[in-house]
Amino acid sequence: MTELAIHNPATGERIAVVPADDAASVAAKAARARAAQPAWAATPLAERQACIERFRAGVVRDLQSLAATMTRETGKPISMSRNELNGLLPRLDFFLQQTRPATATETVFDEAGMREQIEHVALGVVANISAWNYPWFVGCNVIVPALLTGNAVLYKPSEYATLTGLEIARLLHEAGVPKDVFIALVGEGAVGAALLAQKIDGLFFTGSHATGARIAQALAGKLVKLQLELGGKDPTYVCEDADPKAAAASLADGAMYNTGQSCCSVERIYVHEKIHDAFVDAFVRAVEGMKAGDPMGEDTYIGAITRAPQLDVLDAQVSDALAQGARLHTGGKRLPGPGNWYAPTVMTNVDHRMALMREESFGPLIGIQKVAGDEEAVRLMNDTRYGLTAGVYTPDEARARRLLSQVNAGSVYWNCCDRVSPRLPWSGYGDSGIGLTLSTYGIQAFTRPRAWHLRQP
Ligand code: NAD
Repeated sequence: MTELAIHNPATGERIAVVPADDAASVAAKAARARAAQPAWAATPLAERQACIERFRAGVVRDLQSLAATMTRETGKPISMSRNELNGLLPRLDFFLQQTRPATATETVFDEAGMREQIEHVALGVVANISAWNYPWFVGCNVIVPALLTGNAVLYKPSEYATLTGLEIARLLHEAGVPKDVFIALVGEGAVGAALLAQKIDGLFFTGSHATGARIAQALAGKLVKLQLELGGKDPTYVCEDADPKAAAASLADGAMYNTGQSCCSVERIYVHEKIHDAFVDAFVRAVEGMKAGDPMGEDTYIGAITRAPQLDVLDAQVSDALAQGARLHTGGKRLPGPGNWYAPTVMTNVDHRMALMREESFGPLIGIQKVAGDEEAVRLMNDTRYGLTAGVYTPDEARARRLLSQVNAGSVYWNCCDRVSPRLPWSGYGDSGIGLTLSTYGIQAFTRPRAWHLRQP
């Protein structure tokens, strides 16, 4: 049996060693899931719902220890770990309430003895390869509707959030989900790659564009339903009629929350030249007020960088921007270890020649670019291969709607940012992905339609 060592990114300490999967155990687990799925699909929805209700109760009961586990293995500040778990509860409630109406058989025609119906049938065995940055959110966005709709799930948590993934498995099994209907796979990317080689009916992935593209290639020709939720370079435009202080407070949080390691972190800010300086002053003040340090500290806002190699990406983006004339207002360097630490960093005088304005930073680093007006702002917002979210700050809703409808992004925000709702579909345009989670579409995504043509004799 191979093993996976888990490290605390805030200290560098090894905190656990867990048994890991290999190609043979992945194949055996996939066969168990295949065998168990039909009985689960035949279980009444009310019983599957009761399992998820007990799972929810387990999350509430164990919330403090689950938050501490997530913080220890990812470096996420403890208050944000609790926020993630508390934020999970309305998502679970949404899935619990909406699965029945979203998947009930619909009669769409009934005339002269001919009836037409649409039935929503479980896909079968669903594989979920997941990211570490919001392990409860991104895992449960897939696992919970997949289970509710009658699928078996093979779940490969990120190697940087394995303990959390094992807690998800423990709580689902305690709640009554059969051990072969939900199976966790432990390991690095090779275990995910071994999963792709199994007979599966859907692959739901959350992670980087590079890995997503590799997975799409590996599955080419297999005709498996594929969903990819990938990275972003999410822009926001602050108009000249916005309140610069209010916009700066909101956007500093949007850029730095979870130490900038959110798929929908604000990654680029364009500010109208009339309020640029006032905005930057307020933004830098807000960022300098953010406390970095022990992620277990109650008032910590900036935690550790979860993956050490990301420090090199941040260093490279800062030095490239400086070499091309950017101005550094604060940060721009690693913080002393042990562990992986980067100072929250604000740069202005930036442009699109710089990697900082083109490639995902995925850390506490932001570029703020001055613009002359709406046309330039929309052009720059669209000058990206990604398209996850985009925002506009202005008191004028009509203007925001006009601008945001010209931007290629799956979610658009007026006077807010870094926000996800269970009621709305979460999808990326361009290199930010294909498919979606959340909303009633994100429940139906785990089913395929069967069309019934019924003629009365
Ligand atoms: P990653 O691509 O490094 O890893 C994601 C998962 O893929 C991990 O479980 C990993 O073990 C697995 N994996 C790696 N190589 C594989 C291979 N060859 N075959 C199969 N599986 C493989 O991403 P990450 O560092 O975990 O996550 C960060 C990225 O995720 C960022 O780009 C972020 O923007 C994105 N993200 C997107 C969303 C969204 O909703 N769009 C949400 C969260 C994170």
